[in-house]
Amino acid sequence: MSDPADTRETSKGPSVQTEKNLNVLCFEHHTQMRPSQILLKIGEESEQLPAYVCEEPGCFVRYSSSRGYFVTTPDGRQIEGELTPRISCPKDSRLMYLAEVRPQQRSYRLWRCPECGTSLATEGLSRASS
Ligand SMILES: [Zn+2]
Ligand SMILES: [Zn+2]
Repeated sequence: MSDPADTRETSKGPSVQTEKNLNVLCFEHHTQMRPSQILLKIGEESEQLPAYVCEEPGCFVRYSSSRGYFVTTPDGRQIEGELTPRISCPKDSRLMYLAEVRPQQRSYRLWRCPECGTSLATEGLSRASS
């Protein structure tokens, strides 16, 4: 038996694969990164993907919510083994981005999850205990 009255209207549009406008900071410069499209070379292939880019001259730090932070060469190759921070969300293990730093607390970092918005504060090894 089918019920013809049960026709639900879904007002939601199709999910679009674009990056949200997040307040992503470069982990090197602590400046706000700009949402952009980058060309990433993987082997012989090159792949276009939405990513946040640092606007400091000569800085090739990038962030995308799927890959986390990564660093490329000027021609778009990912540099392997670069020391990029990899902080995973405790809820969904997505790679978090740097959302806030404090000039007074040099080791303080606030990370945020691009997926669920969970934030996580970390402090470096040097504790200010005087
Ligand atoms: Zn930078
Ligand atoms: Zn999350």
